Amino acid sequence: MLQELCERLQAEVKYNRRNEFTLYELYQALRARLKKKIGSDHFIVKLLNGFDTGFRNFSDHYKDTSTTFSSQEILDILNKWLEIENKFYCPECNRFVIYQKINGVETILCPCGKLKIK
Ligand SMILES: [Zn+2]
Repeated sequence: MLQELCERLQAEVKYNRRNEFTLYELYQALRARLKKKIGSDHFIVKLLNGFDTGFRNFSDHYKDTSTTFSSQEILDILNKWLEIENKFYCPECNRFVIYQKINGVETILCPCGKLKIK
């Protein structure tokens, strides 16, 4: 889902030779992209900022079996993420928003146009 959002918003992810990205790298790319496009005062950027620490810890350790997260912690992170994801998802056309630049005008819209971030 994060990968799809990064692609749809044309976020730039740091290149690496393995071509593998951690969830946190994708999340950072998404956040940076949105900051640039809609400004750091936008409520979605603020939501993403609020998500930072918990998600970084989770993403750093989720392959590392020595760190255990309680199911409640995982649930909290997941719920927060779903809340954020919802802001990008249009219930009318059941699609995520997509970044487009047409005649120099930038928009972040879902295909039906009901959900408009920019
Ligand atoms: Zn729509």
